[in-house]
Amino acid sequence: MLLDSTLREGEQTPGVVFSEEWRVRIAKALSDMGVHMIEVGDPNVAPDIRRAIAKIIGMKGNGEIASEVVVHSRMVKADIENAASLGPDRIAVFYGVSDIHLAHKHRKSREEALAIVAEHVEFARSLGVKVRFTAEDATRADPNYLVEVVKTAHEAGADRVSIADTVGVLDPFRARDLFRLVKSSVGGLGLDVHAHNDLGMAVANSLAAVDGGADVVHVTVNGLGERTGITPLQAFAVAYYYHRGVRLVRLEELPRITALVENASGITVMPTFPVVGENAFTHKAGVHQAGVLANPATYEPLPPEVVGRERDFSLDKYSGRRAIQHRLERLGIPLGPDELEAVVGEVKSLNVRRLRDEDLLEIVERVTGRALRARVNRHIESYIWIRVADNVYTTSVARRVGAIRGVVEVSEITGEYDIVARASVDTAEELNRVIEEIRGVKGVVSTLTNIVLKELPAQDASWHNQYKRLPPAHH
Ligand SMILES: [Zn+2]
Repeated sequence: MLLDSTLREGEQTPGVVFSEEWRVRIAKALSDMGVHMIEVGDPNVAPDIRRAIAKIIGMKGNGEIASEVVVHSRMVKADIENAASLGPDRIAVFYGVSDIHLAHKHRKSREEALAIVAEHVEFARSLGVKVRFTAEDATRADPNYLVEVVKTAHEAGADRVSIADTVGVLDPFRARDLFRLVKSSVGGLGLDVHAHNDLGMAVANSLAAVDGGADVVHVTVNGLGERTGITPLQAFAVAYYYHRGVRLVRLEELPRITALVENASGITVMPTFPVVGENAFTHKAGVHQAGVLANPATYEPLPPEVVGRERDFSLDKYSGRRAIQHRLERLGIPLGPDELEAVVGEVKSLNVRRLRDEDLLEIVERVTGRALRARVNRHIESYIWIRVADNVYTTSVARRVGAIRGVVEVSEITGEYDIVARASVDTAEELNRVIEEIRGVKGVVSTLTNIVLKELPAQDASWHNQYKRLPPAHH
């Protein structure tokens, strides 16, 4: 099972604050994609967080959210009481259990800490909610003492304990051993793994912890969290699917939740990010492109459709003959072997970062002497579909798009895209400029351009022309 902590741990990312509205939207999206538990934050931190948590709990109550709603709280009775008053499914309380946390943060002895844990877990339990105890910095604690703490929390009424690798120092082998030890020492207890990614091993450690007996894995969308964050939801869900054959969530929704949290947090994932990074299914080297064209499995761990993505080829001097031929065929331009050879030679002599289709057409024209763009050069009608960021007014984007030279019509629409613009220009360069300007409008997330190949007369219009003397049809 997955517990997503984007709203709690994720908001501990430096520079990230979620508005009330975003918190609710993220919770709903996580629930819709099948996340089992959502950690929604600590209501004691700020009034808007408390309001959002209350709203999310209300949505759980009326069935809009299916996930178990977990509220975080320090081990302070007033905080616990305040958290419980909102009526969550579960309260998670935490306490540092390593000697360094005990001595320098809590200033308590190991024995005193045991008493504190027992007292507060019992108190939370007495308020009628399920309780999870988080052993903070558990992976640097004396393992025997950790087992003692876990037993204490369990006996005091916690049905789950989270073993937190707070500074991300586990390796997968130790992770499995540690979870085996705790699991075998305390029966009938649910175990969470909370793995920080300081050394880049959060996904591997989480997978190993599951092998050792953990049954809930803490994740955040895009791997947000303190410092370098925790296990990313996307990478773990897909690793688990690949290695264990189980879909923990609806994998095809991963790009959507990625974009949602990118917008809400203002932090975009890097192109090389697993699964959802821009490059995750884009092939560059000629050898790779030829292999993928023959059989995608040569260079893909799994088909991109499984995770809602599409395969792409990056065209530049690394590209081979096969990939360039493939792209040209898709553009409706079959070339003879000599022409193709010449185009490939030209592409290889250029030092551009990434060739667009338009650039490729230009090269073909230059090299082969064919007038390809002349066909479309006289006049280009196109539709540009525009997706707008969720936190931006569609109307204001539409207004700015409408002001761009070459755009003749703008409509707000329903569905996957928010705006469609019709552009009417004379050259491909003009069209590129229009598209670039649209992309430059603040709030535009992505665009899709369709060029009109042939304008067909609408049924109504032709009917009207033929029988214009008759009264209109709708009479
Ligand atoms: Zn953490």
